[in-house]
Amino acid sequence: MAFGTDTIKKFETLETPFYYYDLGLLRKTLAALQLAAPPEYHVHYALKANANPELLQLIRDAGLGADCVSGNEVKRANELGFKAEKIVFAGVGKSDKEINDALDIGIFCFNAESTHELEVINELAGKKSKIAPIALRINPNVDAHTHKYITTGLEENKFGINQHEFETVCQLIQSSENLNFCGLHFHIGSQIQDLTAFKNLCLKVNEINQWFIKRGLFPEHINVGGGLGIDYRNPETNSIVDFAQYFNVFKDLLELHPQQKVHFELGRCIVAQCGNLISRALYIKKGINTNFVILDAGMTELIRPALYQAYHKIENISRPNQPLDSKYDVVGPICESSDCFGKSVELPESQRGDLFAIRSAGAYGEVMSNHYNLRVSAKPVYSV
Ligand SMILES: *Cc1c(COP(=O)(O)O)cnc(C)c1O
Repeated sequence: MAFGTDTIKKFETLETPFYYYDLGLLRKTLAALQLAAPPEYHVHYALKANANPELLQLIRDAGLGADCVSGNEVKRANELGFKAEKIVFAGVGKSDKEINDALDIGIFCFNAESTHELEVINELAGKKSKIAPIALRINPNVDAHTHKYITTGLEENKFGINQHEFETVCQLIQSSENLNFCGLHFHIGSQIQDLTAFKNLCLKVNEINQWFIKRGLFPEHINVGGGLGIDYRNPETNSIVDFAQYFNVFKDLLELHPQQKVHFELGRCIVAQCGNLISRALYIKKGINTNFVILDAGMTELIRPALYQAYHKIENISRPNQPLDSKYDVVGPICESSDCFGKSVELPESQRGDLFAIRSAGAYGEVMSNHYNLRVSAKPVYSV
């Protein structure tokens, strides 16, 4: 049982829907991460998974850096006290303003995704008489075997620089006065549970790293991205991922020069399990073959099921000890058929007013919420 009786009593007094964050679990997750990471490995937290300031402060205090994919993420990380030398900025479409602001802050590096972007960063840095630190985001053409919308490391994806462009890119960097090459960056996708994908990535990284060193550009750091998946089906028994097993893949397989550092950009596996979307049943609707629980939360609060058929465990927390002998499609109030959190979900017989928890919603939940149908934002609530 995820929530104690006192917690559920407290939930009863709050306006639904809301996000409930278990900060104790986040602390434990960060402690497990620190314990498992070898001292020469640097972990940046990917803000796009959840940029909630309460969570970010704990993550900052645990010593992680920040991986940002927009100017506002860079700004938030900077304002919340992540050191500039621990902030990286990735993304295929950085605007001039975003680049200029990041140059002013003096971030650790830009993960550049195209030759055109390199030209623009060089020009903007030149106008400020600054040297922009550059890591190249490489498209390693490694299949992450995850949902196609969260696969990013294949040639057909929009992300990164492809192998046939390497020589051009090297020439461009070497002839650009305001660029300083500092590393290589890879990110192949998200919610990757089969570590084979990371093993394949390591082999590709070794090849590409060698190529750049031979070519006369020495990557001081190798950033292997994020993407480590979590167990959405068993949030209770598997609340913290096996970080040691993950880092071991890289320890065993990466062939690096002693001076090279390894960077990671983990998002989901740090924050997913500490977040829950708490919602109340508004109506029970009986159909011919299907019965529905209609919640007061919908795809506006948590879009993952609608966007990429993502699974989230759903629990009726008002009836914790009752048998799961009914089946319902659990849906939201939004005027879209895709506004469905789960089909044929096994639940106790449920009634109007029951509280539901949609589990493992700490990553890509609150941060992706929107105001479609003029809905207002669900407020975050924190465990003590
Ligand atoms: C999204 C993203 C991450 C984090 O991915 P997770 O699956 O949440 O770990 C890391 N790096 C980049 C470049 C990303 O776009």
